Amino acid sequence: MGKVTGFLEIDRLEQKYQPASDRIRHFREFTLPLPEAEVGRQAARCMDCGIPFCHGDTGCPVHNQIPDWNDLVYNGDWEEASRNLHSTNNFPEFTGRICPAPCEEACTLNLENVPVAIKTVEQAIADKAWENGWVQPQLPGVKTGKRVAVIGSGPAGMAAAQQLARAGHDVHLYEREPKPGGLMRYGIPDFKMEKHHIDRRVAQMEAEGVTFHCNVNVGVTKPFAELVAEHDAVLMAGGAENPRDPGIPGQDLHGVHYAMPFLVQQNRRVGGESIGDEDPILATGKHVVVVGGGDTASDCVGTSFRQGALSVTQMDIRPCPPQIEDKLSNWPYWPTKFRTSSSQAEGAEREFAAATLGIEGNKKGQVTGVRCARVDEKRQPIPGTEFVLKADLVFLAIGFAGPVKTGMVEQSLTALDRRGNVQADTKLYATSVPKVFAAGDMRRGQSLVVWAIREGRQAARAIDESLMGTTTLPR
Ligand code: FAD
Repeated sequence: MGKVTGFLEIDRLEQKYQPASDRIRHFREFTLPLPEAEVGRQAARCMDCGIPFCHGDTGCPVHNQIPDWNDLVYNGDWEEASRNLHSTNNFPEFTGRICPAPCEEACTLNLENVPVAIKTVEQAIADKAWENGWVQPQLPGVKTGKRVAVIGSGPAGMAAAQQLARAGHDVHLYEREPKPGGLMRYGIPDFKMEKHHIDRRVAQMEAEGVTFHCNVNVGVTKPFAELVAEHDAVLMAGGAENPRDPGIPGQDLHGVHYAMPFLVQQNRRVGGESIGDEDPILATGKHVVVVGGGDTASDCVGTSFRQGALSVTQMDIRPCPPQIEDKLSNWPYWPTKFRTSSSQAEGAEREFAAATLGIEGNKKGQVTGVRCARVDEKRQPIPGTEFVLKADLVFLAIGFAGPVKTGMVEQSLTALDRRGNVQADTKLYATSVPKVFAAGDMRRGQSLVVWAIREGRQAARAIDESLMGTTTLPR
C-alpha cells in the first residue's frame, strides 16, 4: 500500500504517448515517462485492500509484490523497491514496457475503472535501477560443476538461464537467430520495446557466467542427441511459432502474408541485420488489411503505419465494445482482455464482428481485396451482410498453433500434449524424456512475456532440484 487515503485524493495518471502524427515517423519507443514525483503520487494510490489480487496468480504470474514496492516508491526508497521487484522478476524493464498488465485488471481500484498505474510504476523502478547502477551481475557463491543447456533465448530461456547461472551451474544458451531475445527481438517492434534493453541484460547474464551460442539451430545445425550427451540437463524453450492457418480461399495470392515474416523483416532492418534473400514485404503506399485482433495484429498495424501505408484496416471477429453484463460478480477476472492498442489509435479503421470469407485477386494473382461478413453471437456469418475491403497487402494474424514440430521437437522424441505443445507439468517441468525439460510458449502455447519469465524461473528451480537434490532458487 502507499498513502492510506491516496486513492481518494489522487487521480490516476499514466505515462503519455508522443502524438500519433509524430510517433509514426520513427520506430523508437514513444512513451513519455512521468516525472519521479508523479510516479510517487501514483504509487500512493495503492490502497490498503484486504486481498491484493494484483500479486496473486490472477494479477501477476511472477507474483510481483506490488503493494510493497508501491509503498517503497511512495516513501522514496527506490533502491529497495528495485531489490524487491527484481526478487520476483528477472526483467522488469521488459514487462514494464510490454506486459498488458493483468495486475491492473485485478487491482481493487479497477472496480471503479481507475486501477493503480502499476505498469508505469514498474517501468519507472526498473529504469531508475539501471540509471543508478543498481542492476549488477549476481555471481554464484559456489559452482556446482553441472552443465545445463537452454534452447531458445526468449524471455523463458533467458529467465531460466539467469536463475540457473545464479545457482552455480555452467549454463549454455543455444539460439537459432543471430541475436538473443526471441520474440522480444524479432517479433515485437522497437516502438514497443527497443532492443538495447535486451542487450543490457545479455551483458549482465554473460558476466554471471551464461554462454550464448547464437546461430545454432538445434535439430538442424546441431543434433538434439548431441546436446543431450554434452549436458546434465536440457531445457527446451523454443517458443510456439507455428502460425494458425485460417484456411480461407485466396490466402495464397501475392500480397497475402502471415504476420511474422513481415514483423521479423522490419525488426531486422531496424536492428541493422540483413533480410537475406527474402523478398521485402513493405506496406509503403499500400492499402493494408490485417486479419486478427491480438498483439501480433496490432504490431502489424503500427509497423504498416510507420512504413507509410495509405490505409490500415483491422478485422476482428469479436464484437465491440464487449458487454460486461455483471462486472462485480466477474471481478477480478474482467475485463475480457479487450484493449485498444496504441497502434490502433494511430488511425486504423477497425471492423468488428467481422469474419473473413475469402481473399480476392486479379488475373495476375495479386490480392485486390478481402471479402468479409458480419457475424452473429456464435461467430457465424450473417447472410446478406457481405462486404469487400480494398487491399494491396493482407496480413494473417489469427494466432499460433504450438511449436514447429520439425527439427528440435521431432528429434527430442518428447511427447506432445493434445494441443501439440511439448508436454510437461508446471511442478517438475520435466518432459517424457529423461534430463529434458520444457518451459514458456513451447510448453504452454503462445502466451505473454510475463508467463514466459515465470515458467523460466520455475523450470530453473525444478532443474536445480533435479540436479542437486535440493534448491534455494525462489518459486
Ligand atoms: P520465444 O520468445 O518465442 O523465444 C523462443 C526462442 O527459441 C526464439 O529466439 C527462437 O529463435 C528460439 N528457437 C526456436 N527453435 C530453436 C532451435 N531449434 N534451436 C535454437 N533456438 C531455437 N507478449 C506480451 O507480454 N506483450 C506483448 O506486447 C506481446 N506482443 C507480441 C507480439 C508478437 C508479434 C508476438 C508474436 C508475440 C507477442 N507477445 C507479447 C507474446 C510473447 O512475445 C511470447 O509469449 C514470449 O516471447 C514467449 O517467450 P518464449 O521464451 O517462450 O519464446
